Amino acid sequence: MDLTSKIIDGKAVAALVRKDVAAKAAEFEAWAGFPPGLSVVLVGDDPASQVYVRSKEKACQEVGFHSQVFRLPASTPQSELLALIDTLNKDPRVHGILVQFPLPEGFDQTAVINAIDPAKDVDGLHPLNAGRLASGLPGLVPCTPKGIMRLIQTTGVDLTGKTAVVIGRSNLVGKPIAAMLLAANATVTIAHSRTVDLPNVVRQADLVVAAVGRKELVRGDWLKPGAIVIDVGINRVEGKLYGDVAFAEALEVVSAITPVPGGVGPMTIAMLLENTLEAAFAIQEAKTNGHN
Ligand code: NAD
Repeated sequence: MDLTSKIIDGKAVAALVRKDVAAKAAEFEAWAGFPPGLSVVLVGDDPASQVYVRSKEKACQEVGFHSQVFRLPASTPQSELLALIDTLNKDPRVHGILVQFPLPEGFDQTAVINAIDPAKDVDGLHPLNAGRLASGLPGLVPCTPKGIMRLIQTTGVDLTGKTAVVIGRSNLVGKPIAAMLLAANATVTIAHSRTVDLPNVVRQADLVVAAVGRKELVRGDWLKPGAIVIDVGINRVEGKLYGDVAFAEALEVVSAITPVPGGVGPMTIAMLLENTLEAAFAIQEAKTNGHN
């Protein structure tokens, strides 16, 4: 059996998305007279956040976006951060605003999310966009779950009637991916830290999405033979990255699985670019139609 074909290549799928975004960004610029713009705000000096922000900046440049990164010290008063968001909300050259989380202690993350114009909320975390997703209405959706859906599509499997188990119930991953899987007609269970007998719950699943943040929590013998496994976890242990799924064990059992790294991670940034492009067209079209 060719085992390599089971491994979903997130890097390759993301590269195709980025190529497509670059072509459409050029179309946008030709039409609007300026490129799509993404502003990223980083507060404090969390090392992982710094790496993420740098890769977002680089990705923007590669597809021809205008990107700005605002680096603020952890001592910045929240009022100053909110004032910056307000300025970016009003800036017609800015189509996407991303505040890198986690914020340092003392910041009210909910207040910060609520301050972002929902039309520029490329992280899809504003309650209006979360509510639209839950109601099945169009809107900006969180990047990681959007990328996961794209990876599942590459398997060619129709989710209609399939049993999906999502492990994790965060607003960033667990809840939105559950809403998307439901919209794709899967029968969805959301498991979390208080779930009783998780292995048995996971064993029912044709599709498992693990978004927990615990190294190799999901073992091979938890999985139904032939299941599709999407591993969202990023667990850094002694300089090495691990997923939430014991990859080698799982590979023996599944029909498809995402590796860590090189699975979901590259898709998250690709979807951020796609969301920014989507926001740029929507904002500019509204302006052209006099709705601004
Ligand atoms: P989170 O900490 O907000 O949520 C974790 C969830 O896991 C919680 O809902 C909790 O109930 C559940 N959980 C914790 N322990 C559990 C257990 N023993 N059994 C079952 N459920 C348990 O995390 P998050 O933001 O959703 O991220 C989850 C993981 O995904 C992290 O490792 C994070 O780094 C990673 N992540 C990766 C990407 C990417 O681009 N690849 C993006 C976002 C998050």
